[in-house]
Amino acid sequence: MFETPIMSGLHQKCGRCGKGKLFRKYLKFHDQCDHCGQDFSIADTADGPAFFVGSLMMIVFAPFFFILPIVDVGIALKVGLWVLLLSAMAGFCLTLLPMFKGVLFNLQIQHRAEEAKFESAGKHGSPPGNWRY
Ligand SMILES: [Zn+2]
Repeated sequence: MFETPIMSGLHQKCGRCGKGKLFRKYLKFHDQCDHCGQDFSIADTADGPAFFVGSLMMIVFAPFFFILPIVDVGIALKVGLWVLLLSAMAGFCLTLLPMFKGVLFNLQIQHRAEEAKFESAGKHGSPPGNWRY
């Protein structure tokens, strides 16, 4: 249905088949895809989506935090504008969070991302053949 993990993530669909739903609750994943059976427990987005959404929101809304205090309007209108600004920020954050989480999750599955494993290049405990004591 969706050809890229980004598009399927934006629509909160499985990154493998593009049809199954990712979430059973607001930000809770299903255990597996109800269409193709993809295991959803193999990836974890942690706080990545919150970081990207928070950064985007601050870039978009930061100018208003400087402009709004110096706007010459009545106090009632100014309070109303602050309420509107903060409500808009909260609304955008709550709307974008599942989308970003879906995109990051689908990208992890697509690229088989996993936790870093550290392996030594040398063999500890047995020195190389040309080693002199
Ligand atoms: Zn699927």
